[in-house]
Amino acid sequence: MWIDTHCHLDAGEFAGEELAIADGAAGQGVGMIVVPAVATCNFAAVARLARQRRNCVYALGIHPLYVPTADESDLQVLRREIERALGDTRFVAIGEIGLDFFVPELKEGALREKQEHFYSEQLKLAREFDLPVLLHVRRSQDIILKYLRRIAVPGGIAHAFNGSVQQAQAFIGLGFKLGFGGAMTFPRSLQIRRLASEVPLQAIVLETDAPDISPAWLHPQRNTPDQIPRIGQVLAELRGMRAEDVALATSANAHAALPRLMSVS
Ligand SMILES: [Zn+2]
Repeated sequence: MWIDTHCHLDAGEFAGEELAIADGAAGQGVGMIVVPAVATCNFAAVARLARQRRNCVYALGIHPLYVPTADESDLQVLRREIERALGDTRFVAIGEIGLDFFVPELKEGALREKQEHFYSEQLKLAREFDLPVLLHVRRSQDIILKYLRRIAVPGGIAHAFNGSVQQAQAFIGLGFKLGFGGAMTFPRSLQIRRLASEVPLQAIVLETDAPDISPAWLHPQRNTPDQIPRIGQVLAELRGMRAEDVALATSANAHAALPRLMSVS
């Protein structure tokens, strides 16, 4: 079985096709798809998908790119929804949260402070409720790590990981898995391919980030979770392994990162 640890199945690009796409992925052996929220306005949508399809689970959180339009009351909504979701076995993590310093307006001043505030408040919720986090880390590895050292959460996944070997080791040392996906399938992505072949296998989970980060063979068309086995095949080739063994290992790693996956019912 394969696991897509990061897929925005509720995204507008999939409108009306979400369930067929989840079923298509299941048909390709993708037994589980983790659907993170991005803002309070899609909390209900990700939870609904997880109710409608056996191979979907969800996370709740406020994505850094949605922080500019969020306010304090959204953090209260998040807390209330987490409390409610704790009794739901299909709820597995807090996410997608993090910091995005790629977008120039978000990198400085008040919006940067607001991003850091939402990130640290959501880490505190993860610590309080003993939940793993799904991290969006874009040009922000070191500051993401700084907060993780300060606010001890029970691990999670650094999604679409793209950092140095040292940064990878720091995340692993803090109990995190690293998410690899479509970016790894481009021959020119030397750094990511090197990381994917060199970091310990126990640190790797697979993801699509669909509809984004399409693999080389689909680019620039939208990405879908049924691509996971082929993405896993690329990882297998990079590491000189059999695809079946990559499926087993990365699925076990996803369960280790997201323990609630083990009692999904
Ligand atoms: Zn995402």
